[in-house]
Amino acid sequence: MDLNTALTKAHDEYTQQNPKSLARHQTALDVMPGGNTRSVLFNLPFPLGVAKAESCKIYDLDGHEYIDFLGEYTAGIYGHSHPVIRAAIDKALDNGLNFGGTNETEVKLAQAICERFPSIDRIRFTNSGTEANLMAITAARRHTNRSHILVFAGAYHGGVLYFSTGKKNPVNAPYDFVLAPYNDVDATRALIQEHSANLAAVLLEPMMGSGGCIQASTSFLQMLRDECTQHQIVLIFDEVMTSRLAPGGFQEAVGVLPDMTTLGKYIGGGMSFGAFGGRVELMDHYNPHLPDALPHAGTFNNNVLTMNAGLAGLTQVYTPDAARKLNEQGEDLRRRLNQLCQRAEAPMQFTGRGSMMTVHMTDAPIHSPTDAAKGNQALRELFFFDMVNSGIWLAPRGMINLSLPHNESQLNDLVDAVGAFVEQRECFL
Ligand code: PLP
Repeated sequence: MDLNTALTKAHDEYTQQNPKSLARHQTALDVMPGGNTRSVLFNLPFPLGVAKAESCKIYDLDGHEYIDFLGEYTAGIYGHSHPVIRAAIDKALDNGLNFGGTNETEVKLAQAICERFPSIDRIRFTNSGTEANLMAITAARRHTNRSHILVFAGAYHGGVLYFSTGKKNPVNAPYDFVLAPYNDVDATRALIQEHSANLAAVLLEPMMGSGGCIQASTSFLQMLRDECTQHQIVLIFDEVMTSRLAPGGFQEAVGVLPDMTTLGKYIGGGMSFGAFGGRVELMDHYNPHLPDALPHAGTFNNNVLTMNAGLAGLTQVYTPDAARKLNEQGEDLRRRLNQLCQRAEAPMQFTGRGSMMTVHMTDAPIHSPTDAAKGNQALRELFFFDMVNSGIWLAPRGMINLSLPHNESQLNDLVDAVGAFVEQRECFL
């Protein structure tokens, strides 16, 4: 059997095993374009419908049970029913929603974040990581009185800041972007120097998450720090995903500090969340005490549920110790998975850091999304279906994220499922 035939067979079996998810999709097609309202949740032949989730388990509409190794693309670090988060939400509900006023919890969450992340002296909240990046970009443009933003090919910073193909993305916010190659020190330095008079900001994830869990080298980050300082460009780290990788985020782990940081995902305790922060003089562009301050609106910026769930999560659950432990667990898991691939001489690998990783169907080194794109994409798709069949919930593009409720036996189940894939699909590897 060739790979395409195996993939068609996997689609057919998936369709047969999931009649209720198929019916849900068919109903959705009548009222939503493609039956979808979040592009990343679309996969062929149709996405599985989720009936419920508990701890780190997910149950689909047809009654299958999965271990959740997606963790809502890093936002679900607490699992689905953490008692501390739940108690914080219940308590908040007792005092009412939607005040149309300031509340005490937003100050406490702001304090907790400023204490935790070394480059953040002042913080503002948004409803999403996308908005956080837009607001940070706007502060940088105002601060420098320049227009252009340097970003990296393959980067994702939100629905309107997506640079996957290198071609102009019609959905992107209409800024002037300069596209650079990730982890390429010389080429990026040359681009910064060439455009320095127009560059307001360099925006990057210190480890690309959606781009395939590809870490920036410390020398690359240090070069960006040095060039941005020299040319007075605002260096923005998008730590929407990577802030979970160490108690004070990736920046703390590598010791390279940006001027501004954007946050999102798990810091809202599982509710809609985003935030942007940085040095006082940058954040003061949004200070309403000052003349000509930029406006920053958002009905739900300080919403009661997010503020309370986020504060409880960050201060009582994802403590610095918990962050260190989860990331050590992730390092160990990724080592085991890579050893398994190497022992079988399978051309596949798991890249990443700590509690975040992505499978790639190539054993060649991966330093950029261009390297990652050389992996066999059809085989990665087959991997997804085989994992789903083994009761593993993960991203169709192969992303895996640990969450706090995972136990040793569930990690072993993932290793066993990958072992079975390597053995059974050996002919394609
Ligand atoms: N930045 C990064 C690195 C992300 O991974 C994401 C979302 O996946 C965003 C920004 C956008 O966050 P949101 O989906 O909350 O708008």
